[in-house]
Amino acid sequence: MIVCKFGGTSVADAEAIARVVDVVVSKRVSLPVVVVSALGGATNQLLALARKAADGELLAALQLLELLRDRHLREAHALLGGTAEAEELATEIGASFDELAHLAEALRTLGYLTPRSLDTVAALGELLSSQIVAAAFRRHGHPAVWVDARDVMKTNDAFTRAEPDLEAIALAAREQLLPLLQQGMIPVMGGFVGSAPGRITTTLGRGGSDYSASLVGAAIDATAIEIWTDVDGMLTADPRVIPGARLIERISFDEAAELAAFGAKVLHPATIAPAVQRGIPVYVFNSRKPEGRGTMIAFDAPRLPVRAIAGKRGTTLVKLRSSRMLLAPGFLRRVFEVFETHRTSVDVVTTSEVSVSVTLDDATNLAAILQDLAAFGDVAVERRSGIVAIVGAGIADGSRAMADAIAALGPIPVYMASLSATGINFTLVIDDDQVVPAMQRLHATFFERGS
Ligand code: ADP
Ligand code: ASP
Ligand code: MG
Repeated sequence: MIVCKFGGTSVADAEAIARVVDVVVSKRVSLPVVVVSALGGATNQLLALARKAADGELLAALQLLELLRDRHLREAHALLGGTAEAEELATEIGASFDELAHLAEALRTLGYLTPRSLDTVAALGELLSSQIVAAAFRRHGHPAVWVDARDVMKTNDAFTRAEPDLEAIALAAREQLLPLLQQGMIPVMGGFVGSAPGRITTTLGRGGSDYSASLVGAAIDATAIEIWTDVDGMLTADPRVIPGARLIERISFDEAAELAAFGAKVLHPATIAPAVQRGIPVYVFNSRKPEGRGTMIAFDAPRLPVRAIAGKRGTTLVKLRSSRMLLAPGFLRRVFEVFETHRTSVDVVTTSEVSVSVTLDDATNLAAILQDLAAFGDVAVERRSGIVAIVGAGIADGSRAMADAIAALGPIPVYMASLSATGINFTLVIDDDQVVPAMQRLHATFFERGS
């Protein structure tokens, strides 16, 4: 059994979905489970629609809704033509958007959004795309069965970033998916979407379809988890920033997890953990070039000082200065409890005897965090920070990689530097607007000069 996950661009329209069908059919002997994202861009539009409705711009929200409805109907029609199944699906799509219109009206009346309502709206993208893809398989004569992700992906009720209930997922996935696979069927489900107790719709957070795929893979003990996307695999940097980035043929789980956490959007940061636990290799392939070699992510890979670089813009740097830190046991624990209380994870940390600096990816709860931190000492915030990271199992083998990284940045000011305890991630905190030039300089140093 394998899991094949297709991202938004890989299911953006009828033509792309037809390629998905070809890829999956070529793998039928491996018993694939198919996980799909929403049609490319649909999640952003659904969320924008919800925001407009809650802001009182109902007309604009409904215009967006009609565009989305038309798009889904158009692609479904292009794939299925005038078949009876096409009509059934069109009715289903229509009913879903009618319901969404009612929800938009309710949001307008309410005047605000809750994480729970956001999830209900956002989930529609995957719930519909997966039904369209399942129907496309059947249209081509392949026995696909739509599986409602809410029946498999059991989560808690932390709406917009729900955490999976691994035991419940394992049970549900075996119950729902294995019988279908045994009967020679192709299960097709939406990624990203889950349900909390009471079957209330949740989502795993933006980009979460990769995570869905690895959770399903771990649950059914798949032999491979394949992430099909719009680039050739994991590359030495984001090709949108570094057009000359090179394909990585093999990378370790640890390195891939670090890259994902530090900005390599090609994988959702949580994707690796379920795969590691079961020792299932993860592959990244290009759905436009299915014959490509792609990237294999597994326990071991040839040891290199620097495998790839990543960067993240828009991080927040928080600096806490406190004379009380001096010789105070438990001080750091209490400081970190503040972040835990406000459910905000910390990316990079440095400490000295009288200060702690951390970077945050998610500044949603920043005001409350700052208020609590003020009890410990003086707090300063820099909102326009960025991070660049070099990742490689051999970074710490000699001091050269780290020294080369700092030298490569030249005149770009560095505010924090941190080598992970595992020695595979060397992170530098810089100004937000320096992230792109810093990545260019680092890539040139490590991948374009043969060093
Ligand atoms: P999908 O919709 O298939 O999930 P995403 O947009 O989430 O696709 O992820 C793919 C994108 O990730 C690529 O288009 C690329 O710009 C970006 N990316 C960032 N870092 C890397 C990297 N190191 N290697 C490959 N792609 C990367
Ligand atoms: N459609 C969701 C998003 O855009 C999940 C995903 O594509 O992975 O965030
Ligand atoms: Mg993605």
